Amino acid sequence: MRRPLIAGNWKLNLLRAGAVDLVAALRSGLAGEKRCEVLVCPPFTALGAVAEALKGSEIAVGGQDCYWAESGAFTGEVAPSMLADAGCRYVLVGHSERRQFFGETDESVGKKLRAAQKAGLEPVVCVGERLEERERGVTQETVGRQLDGALGGLSKEDVLKLTLAYEPVWAIGTGKVATPAQAQEVHAFIRARLAKLAGDAAAREVRILYGGSVNPENIRGLMDQADVNGALVGGASLKAESFVKIVRH
Ligand code: PEP
Repeated sequence: MRRPLIAGNWKLNLLRAGAVDLVAALRSGLAGEKRCEVLVCPPFTALGAVAEALKGSEIAVGGQDCYWAESGAFTGEVAPSMLADAGCRYVLVGHSERRQFFGETDESVGKKLRAAQKAGLEPVVCVGERLEERERGVTQETVGRQLDGALGGLSKEDVLKLTLAYEPVWAIGTGKVATPAQAQEVHAFIRARLAKLAGDAAAREVRILYGGSVNPENIRGLMDQADVNGALVGGASLKAESFVKIVRH
């Protein structure tokens, strides 16, 4: 198993100057950090400045989304190779806000993650149920469908290079974190589904992050769970103090 990954999703926040200030504070606050791998995902316009400010550090940079075509008449889209060229190593794919507000589907998530891998990026594929789905008792069915729809047909080698993020939609930005037991239950389900797709050995290697109202107070309980291998952090990644505490939990 690789080191746990703590990723910050900055969403639609920060101009370049604020982004550079934040990563400068993260560099000093996280100096010598060895236990967790750290990733920040700034908005597209700050990627270059952040990558430049992180040169020589172990903090990785990622995009928040990408398109699946490499070039062409797709106004407003950003290709995986463009992210790599801007200094990215990772890219988030299928975040629930993309699914909810921008028409992302399991099929488009599948195309994007394949294009990202082809360009040498490591996709972090996000899945998770809405509140209404949890209340109807179809959490596993929903997450299973998202996984099969996006990952079906991937080779074992490509599954091995993925990172998954379980983000219950009802927990994102709401302050209502999943309990460690709720997170563990779905993470174990995801790992079992990965094992069906790529075998037990591969499934054991894939990191599964939890996301949804993670903060310095609740991170430890989540990370103590057997199948939680990191966190995807939104709001609390915008302040160096809280993000550093989460990484160093
Ligand atoms: C996210 O943006 O992926 C997220 C989990 O946000 P928050 O931590 O603010 O709930």
